[in-house]
Amino acid sequence: MARSSPLLLAAFTLFFLLVAPSLAADPDMLQDICVADLSSGVKVNGFACKANVTEDDFFFKGLATPGATNNTMGSLVTGANVEKIPGLNTLGVSMARIDYAPGGLNPPHTHPRATEMVFVLEGTLDVGFITTANKLVAKTITKGETFVFPRGLVHFQKNNGNVPAAVISAFNSQLPGTQSIAVTLFTSNPPVPDNVLTKAFQIGTKEVEKIKSRLAPKKS
Ligand code: MN
Repeated sequence: MARSSPLLLAAFTLFFLLVAPSLAADPDMLQDICVADLSSGVKVNGFACKANVTEDDFFFKGLATPGATNNTMGSLVTGANVEKIPGLNTLGVSMARIDYAPGGLNPPHTHPRATEMVFVLEGTLDVGFITTANKLVAKTITKGETFVFPRGLVHFQKNNGNVPAAVISAFNSQLPGTQSIAVTLFTSNPPVPDNVLTKAFQIGTKEVEKIKSRLAPKKS
């Protein structure tokens, strides 16, 4: 009666092989709370739990006010992740606020550990991501609207309006991580060798040096 058919077994195996990777995200929690001890020397996946917990470990007011956008890109990301809210440790979610000056750009970047959803608080943005098949998926979104950037894919937001814009971002990771493409390639420490960049971008050493100097962190 309970003899399983080889076909059924094969179907189940295939099902789990296909589904298991798509469930990949921050690992599930094993206890109610594990408030991050950000100063612990213990190395674990995430942060070690601290002993004395207060309500402030679950609180952050940093998204209440616009971030200063008077910088080179004309945008500022304010993270509300486990580094700011220790109570997020092991919970697999976080948020951010992004402010954009008129003309401001959140330059092309990826989050290795999270899908991102943005909700437009104010203004209008031209947003997009690029698939691994090199297709640009782009749209203009405005106040009250939402857009999704799938995990790991390069994406950007640009404020082409003449008033400031702002979004709230949601992530399915306590610490999504951000790699900004240009900054990663041209300002890493130690630097990526010039001959890698000249060949990759099909430009000369002078152009590489020019980009490096313009993207270098401003001395204040
Ligand atoms: Mn992003």
